[in-house]
Amino acid sequence: MSLDKSIGNLKGVGPQVAAKLNKLGLYTLKDIIEHYPREYEDRRKITPIKDIELDCHHNILGVVVSAPQVSKKSGKIIVTFRIKDETGSIYVTFYGQAYMKNNFAVGEQYLFYGKVKRKYTKIEMDSPEYQKLSDPSSLGEVAKITPIYPVTHKLSQKVIRGLIAAALKECTPYIKDYLPCAVRKDYQLADKSYAIENIHFPKSNEFFFEARKRLVFEELFMLQLALCTLKSDFSRRHVGNAHKLPIDFAVFLESLPFKLTDAQKRVLSEITDDMQSPMAMNRLIQGDVGSGKTVIAAIALFVAVKGGYQAAMMAPTEVLAIQHYDFLQKLMQPFGIEVGLVTGSMRAKQKSELLEAVKAQKIHILVGTHALIEQPVALPNLGLVITDEQHRFGVRQRIKLSEKGTSPDVMVMTATPIPRTLALILYGDMDISIIDELPPGRQPIKTNAVDSSYHARIYKFIEKELKSGRQCYIICPMVEENETNNDLQNVVDYSYLLRTEIFPDFVVEYLHGKMKPKEKNEIMERFNSGEVHILVSTTVIEVGVNVPNATIMLIENAERFGLAQLHQLRGRVGRGQHQSYCILVSDSKNKITQKRLKIMEETTDGFVIAETDLKLRGPGEFFGTRQHGLPEMKIANLYTDAKVLKEVQKCVKHLLGEDPKLHKLEHKELLNEMHDRLAKESLHHAL
Ligand code: ADP
Ligand code: MG
Repeated sequence: MSLDKSIGNLKGVGPQVAAKLNKLGLYTLKDIIEHYPREYEDRRKITPIKDIELDCHHNILGVVVSAPQVSKKSGKIIVTFRIKDETGSIYVTFYGQAYMKNNFAVGEQYLFYGKVKRKYTKIEMDSPEYQKLSDPSSLGEVAKITPIYPVTHKLSQKVIRGLIAAALKECTPYIKDYLPCAVRKDYQLADKSYAIENIHFPKSNEFFFEARKRLVFEELFMLQLALCTLKSDFSRRHVGNAHKLPIDFAVFLESLPFKLTDAQKRVLSEITDDMQSPMAMNRLIQGDVGSGKTVIAAIALFVAVKGGYQAAMMAPTEVLAIQHYDFLQKLMQPFGIEVGLVTGSMRAKQKSELLEAVKAQKIHILVGTHALIEQPVALPNLGLVITDEQHRFGVRQRIKLSEKGTSPDVMVMTATPIPRTLALILYGDMDISIIDELPPGRQPIKTNAVDSSYHARIYKFIEKELKSGRQCYIICPMVEENETNNDLQNVVDYSYLLRTEIFPDFVVEYLHGKMKPKEKNEIMERFNSGEVHILVSTTVIEVGVNVPNATIMLIENAERFGLAQLHQLRGRVGRGQHQSYCILVSDSKNKITQKRLKIMEETTDGFVIAETDLKLRGPGEFFGTRQHGLPEMKIANLYTDAKVLKEVQKCVKHLLGEDPKLHKLEHKELLNEMHDRLAKESLHHAL
């Protein structure tokens, strides 16, 4: 049997359940057995009824002593009955599940797991999980370490646990172990089917640790292997172009609207050294939001073009690409350098004219979105490629862009504050430059985390700022009203409210990802020019946008965002000489949420934020979904498992040293698995 078979082949999975599983990203049997628990509950311990603590979860072994009674309260069906053990008795109650009445019979013994509460005069266990005990010797099979899965609210733990158990039964004999024997032996790793079984249903803590060790190793191993393979051709030091610094280099620097900071100068000299060397540049520029990466890119572009080459710069959004285009055009025009812009929303005729001009080398610098790599853009004389906000792209995309030339210099820029250890692994093939200083005159952004009772005061404050000529961003998590989440602010309704009731004297516009690029660009232009005072937006403006006159960033439902995202959003203000403010609104009572928002109040240092939050919640939470450039991990934690990651790095290096193309027979399964993974869209994005 193939593990690639659809989950529909599993008993108990009809179209409805399948749809719910699909929502969790589970399509095949393999997906489901690799849907690992989020945590475990130790249900080996059974609490005697007399020892129960109220409002806690307990595991009770009880015999049903009264027949289930059905009653109705405010339209809701209630099924209730009594259970007892040797030490006492309590009630078990199910709400809104009439069928429960037929599931229990007097005299039968069950293991119940749930929260025990006082309800008026009764002590009851509310809608517990339960398992029938057919004979006393089966207790060990029922009272176990129990996995808790990440699920949607429409799929109960019990159902998904049952499905996974069923899938394991079917699949275990067919699980392939593609980790090479030698690796398993050297690192003392359990075999795959053992690991999969015990990650779901560990027989003991030791079994769990063994299982996790193996799976973490494997996950990091595959990641590292994929990264190395993808990069191997690319990263080998190519002979590239040796640029000379142009004669008017100093004149160009003089023409910039400001003096470079020391950090910018240092990074610039690292770049110009690279460019003058005969080897191709391959450099990552890391700099916190607002540290001034764009101008560094501009200077590198200037050097490349003056050296007789064409250059390309790719940005993740159209808004950002246009902004770069405008900035570069102004700088370059006096020096006779032509800048072009290619985006997905251009008309065909316009585009073909542009691409002709590029081909004829009448355009020297081509700025664009993904369109740069998706379109048949020919850059016959490409000497430098720059990717801005690299974390929004994948390794593959960055390679694709550089493949448009022969060994062009490569520069990627990112504001994601990845701790250095991780950066070295993920960008291991690159040299790294860090801009660790903000331009002078910036006043630190003042950040406040408050709850929604502050809205009136916040609006007053915004009004004051607007009246003195400043502008404001307001970020909401949702685009439109959404039934399941109607407590979240949505961009469209909120804008209407602001426009009609709260700020009738100001121009309020909104922006979200579902709008056409043309509409978005128009709004952005009007905000840029100062005509729009308040821009309500989803996170589409999160990366790169630069409007120095905007001084307030108000973020609604701040608990919904990852800290990296909040940090990026906050980086949209504090870009000019005016004092700027970031207001985070959240009604969440969650302790960790409050702690996280507190960090935002305490520091504006992206690296500190990254480290702290990684410690608090692990990388998944910190980086938010798909915001990070770090691949999503099923089981490994890139931060807490950093030690394993180091071992893995060594191991992969050794393996590829001996068998660079994985052509040896004993690596056949491994090679297949890697190709499978690389073929999957999800990994393209992840890498
Ligand atoms: P990021 O690193 O986030 O991409 P930008 O390149 O957009 O930052 O720069 C942020 C703002 O700082 C821009 O308005 C830019 O013009 C300005 N800036 C950059 N470098 C300097 C500098 N050395 N002195 C003053 N302002 C600068
Ligand atoms: Mg930028």
